[in-house]
Amino acid sequence: MYPVKEKLNEVRQSLPQGVRLVAISKFHPEEYITAAYEEGQRVFGESHEQELALKVKKLPQDIEWHFIGHLQTNKVKYIAPYISMIEAVDSLKLLREIEKQAAKADRVVRVLLELHIAEEATKYGLTLDACRQLLSDGEWRQMSHVQICGLMMMASNVDDEAQICQEFDTAARFFDELKRDFFADAPYFCERSWGMSQDYHLAVQHGSTMVRVGTTIFGPRIY
Ligand SMILES: *Cc1c(COP(=O)(O)O)cnc(C)c1O
Repeated sequence: MYPVKEKLNEVRQSLPQGVRLVAISKFHPEEYITAAYEEGQRVFGESHEQELALKVKKLPQDIEWHFIGHLQTNKVKYIAPYISMIEAVDSLKLLREIEKQAAKADRVVRVLLELHIAEEATKYGLTLDACRQLLSDGEWRQMSHVQICGLMMMASNVDDEAQICQEFDTAARFFDELKRDFFADAPYFCERSWGMSQDYHLAVQHGSTMVRVGTTIFGPRIY
């Protein structure tokens, strides 16, 4: 078995205070999650609804699950009853569906808005303008079962560290803008989810409050 406990602790020790670790366990077996759990890790991230549902059934109840992948609106109803945070909200349509399903489950679901800043054309997410538009439109203010807690983004998958840092800075400045314009009175709007195995050490120097690390903790994924 991959040395999950050792790797987890290495990552934790390298994080500054105030930065939370979401251990990305997608495609990894339950034993790996249990190993991390035994070390005290409670926040895990998954990107497929069915895989998540199976793991939720078998693993301890006090795990906080984050949904980190692209979420289809027709899947929201399955995760709304238990999901702790949906990290990748990239449309008003999805936000509406989360509101509807969270209301049915009599819960408040925390969400992050996903930004598209990276150069890759294939990545999901809102452009900065689309994100401003969604918030100025104001419909979200009537949604009492979703709480918009901040932003999530992925940097470009490149070797150029300067470019990666620039993308994190763009996201961090944009967070400040939204905080000022829409969430000045909302202490819960405080999360900046960026940084993965390749770049979390840079992300924490550029405003991240939450890193999503998979491979460094659990080893390579077998698809
Ligand atoms: C898979 C995934 C991660 C983790 O990536 P690693 O490179 O394995 O650390 C983080 N964020 C998102 C959105 C992912 O899909």
